[in-house]
Amino acid sequence: MTLEPEVLRDVAARFGTPVFAYDLTAIGRRLDLLEEVFGPRLRPSYAVKANPHRAVLEFLEPRVGTLDISSVGEAGRAIAAGWPARRLSFTGPAKRPQDLSYAVERGIGWVVVESVREAEQLSGIAEGAGRSQDILVRISPRKVPRGFGVRMTGRSTQFGIDEEQVPAALRIIGQLPALRLAGFHVFSGSQCLDAAAVSENFAIMARLFRRFSRAVGLAPQRLVFGSGFGIPYHDDTSPLAIEAVAAASNPLFEALHAEPRFRECALSLELGRWLVGEAGIYLTSVVSRKESRGTSIGVCDGGMHHHLGACGHLGSVIHRNYRMFRIPARAHPPAGPARGPSRAFDLVGPLCTTIDTLGHGVLFEDLEPGDLIAIHCSGAYARTASPGGFISHEPAREVAVREREGGGYDLQLLAEEPGP
Ligand SMILES: *Cc1c(COP(=O)(O)O)cnc(C)c1O
Repeated sequence: MTLEPEVLRDVAARFGTPVFAYDLTAIGRRLDLLEEVFGPRLRPSYAVKANPHRAVLEFLEPRVGTLDISSVGEAGRAIAAGWPARRLSFTGPAKRPQDLSYAVERGIGWVVVESVREAEQLSGIAEGAGRSQDILVRISPRKVPRGFGVRMTGRSTQFGIDEEQVPAALRIIGQLPALRLAGFHVFSGSQCLDAAAVSENFAIMARLFRRFSRAVGLAPQRLVFGSGFGIPYHDDTSPLAIEAVAAASNPLFEALHAEPRFRECALSLELGRWLVGEAGIYLTSVVSRKESRGTSIGVCDGGMHHHLGACGHLGSVIHRNYRMFRIPARAHPPAGPARGPSRAFDLVGPLCTTIDTLGHGVLFEDLEPGDLIAIHCSGAYARTASPGGFISHEPAREVAVREREGGGYDLQLLAEEPGP
């Protein structure tokens, strides 16, 4: 781990707080691990919405084959970061004619079709432009195994075409003159820490991919397995055992590749948070320490406007504290009586609302103004998934951290990006 307390202290001293630090070297190590456990069976594909910063996209460009984008804005960011449009696939349930035209005109590699309406509109647009557009049909499975913290299907959903309706949809899509069916896509659940559930979900996808490819006599060019790999946000959660996922699922991917129909097919592992989430830390400073009616409160300069998820408002039912630690303002405790046992602190942000709470009852030995609080799992769905405009505080800065070959590290303040 590059983001040791002394590195973070350095980040705060040089760039101030609140600040996000993204450890690019750690993202590279995640990719190495995927390569190690899946080998050539699965090729990673990065979902830009997890962290769309240009530095992240530039870092990934030579290392990852494809990107999942879900807006014209994300496509623009990817292209500006050096990605050719043909390596992008475009998901999203509400693509308008202008979005589809953009995809066709820019030469986006695959449009992930989420409805028959969209396919028909896309075909008309491509035909008008004298082009043929590659598509993946997004299937919404009937079943998502237990264990996924976020479920996109398994009930009514705006995402993809219900499994039950896919045969009829494929009959219509197959008649559309300007579309080429390149394969299928499933992203049905996320934030899963249970290896068996992830593997079971892959098996569900493989069954659907097989069934529908056979039904239309297709040798797909590409099949996208939405991974749903989760990360341990909270102290009482453990990481996904990625080796166990590979051990259980590699035979499945090999069996697919062994069938003539799928021999040339690229199997994509689509993921976001698992790749970048744990590579990011959000650093905030304690501005004030208050005692109020029996509760000790640390009032911080950072909060919900930068990090909605850490405040428990990004899809969680109850607020559970993200893993976090304190970096004391003074490196060594002053001489004096020994410190008492850990005490509980509520950590709040600067916004004028009670929902701006970064932590409830967080245990620290002590807390004082000038201390830094470092919040883990802040590399994904943080800055751009937060209400940055609310109350007009300054945006959080973002710093890239890279390990140097022979030891040490480099810090780079990232250019401010347009607000979310
Ligand atoms: C958001 C998204 C992902 C990535 O989800 P993570 O939970 O970050 O891995 C992948 N595919 C699609 C289509 C998405 O919308």
